[in-house]
Amino acid sequence: LARNPGEKEFHQAVLEVLETLGPVVRKHREYVDSSIIERLCEPERQLIFRVPWTDDSGQVQVNRAFRVEFNSALGPYKGGLRFHPTVYLGIVKFLGFEQIFKNALTGLPIGGGKGGSDFDPKGRSDAEVMRFCQSLMTELYRHLGEYTDVPAGDIGVGGREIGYLFGQYKRITNRYESGVLTGKGLAYGGSQVRTEATGYGTVYFTEDMLGTRGHSLSGRRVVVSGSGNVAIYAIEKAAALGAQVVACSDSSGYVVDEDGIDVPLLRQVKEVERGRVSDYAEQRPKARFVEGGSVWEVTCEVALPCATQNELDGDAARLLADHGILAVAEGANMPCTPEAVDVFAERGVLFAPGKAANAGGVATSALEMQQNASRDSWSFEHTEERLRAIMAGVHERCASAADEYGRPGDYVAGANISGFVRVADAMLAMGVV
Ligand code: NDP
Repeated sequence: LARNPGEKEFHQAVLEVLETLGPVVRKHREYVDSSIIERLCEPERQLIFRVPWTDDSGQVQVNRAFRVEFNSALGPYKGGLRFHPTVYLGIVKFLGFEQIFKNALTGLPIGGGKGGSDFDPKGRSDAEVMRFCQSLMTELYRHLGEYTDVPAGDIGVGGREIGYLFGQYKRITNRYESGVLTGKGLAYGGSQVRTEATGYGTVYFTEDMLGTRGHSLSGRRVVVSGSGNVAIYAIEKAAALGAQVVACSDSSGYVVDEDGIDVPLLRQVKEVERGRVSDYAEQRPKARFVEGGSVWEVTCEVALPCATQNELDGDAARLLADHGILAVAEGANMPCTPEAVDVFAERGVLFAPGKAANAGGVATSALEMQQNASRDSWSFEHTEERLRAIMAGVHERCASAADEYGRPGDYVAGANISGFVRVADAMLAMGVV
């Protein structure tokens, strides 16, 4: 704690992992003897830099950007960039730390990293976003490469931003290096299913987890928080599997639509018009917008928090449990507070941590890297089949690690242990590096 003052989300993420590793380090003294945990908690490299850019009125603006290259034991650093005013080093380190274990859980050859900036794209014109992205890449490019560090999107960074970043990378390096970024458009090296992957993957994991108790999503009442990339495609896949998704949200409030969220309309409002969920509600006569409220007030059997960290606290968890919830799966990173996670455990609610449930996004990014490396592009069906198999593998790894270390059904312990063991073994094999 003293070494990383004020980085509260990073402390939270590290504690959550370390609390579950006791049985592993007791069994494997070699991890302790070689200080694997101390090494894992210290990023291999951290970059902080200035991003100056000119807004549409001619005023020069200055933002701060970060890239934390956390761990490359399994492959090049891999993890998204987040553009949001709340971004600071503690957020980027928490996300980068989580990413190490998540990437290991996919079984694919990718290390962990994360980046971002306190730039707020909301209300900015396309030209402003482009100038910001170009300025950011003018510094970041020297640290990237398909064998070094491969960023993707996250909150505030979607297809538009990745396009501007890739264009600037190509221009200043004079290299058409497709594998340097993922989440690219289909016209220039992107992968089918990448846009949908995190949301779809979260739903697949939920289905597998429900299956362990003889349940499924079919006919279930589901609430999703957020209305961004992850939320939209979680809603779409849950509905495709027969669930009734009745609510979603953004930072201004939530919308309840008892007819089931209309995904094409939500996509039009959010992806095309860059509007709010209140705009969605206005176009659906029976939908109700609740300003400033918590979406967890809406009764449901399955909850998929897909917005941001610490958005579902102990009180919300108790309310969900009182309403008889069966399962919660984190589409976002660390959306449930530690207290909420404890409540779910006490009340016997199935709980999937983000590093397992939302691993489908980065897994499909790794599939995009495979396609780029082989100068190939796969069909939607084939890519989705790969994603489905990868998520089944993530579920299986979590479940069997939890069983092996005496915590059956505990996906938090299973995810942390399984991810940790894979990274730790690779680090041990490479010596003190
Ligand atoms: P988007 O920017 O597309 O959407 C984010 C959504 O969350 C928006 O609806 C936004 O509402 C809401 N939100 C963001 N910050 C807050 C806040 N402080 N309070 C309330 N609501 C908020 O991001 P993504 O969908 O890509 O990411 C969502 C989560 O999923 C993040 O935790 C991210 O790290 C995680 N994730 C994303 C992956 C991906 O592939 N995109 C992969 C794995 C994890 P508003 O518009 O009002 O801000």
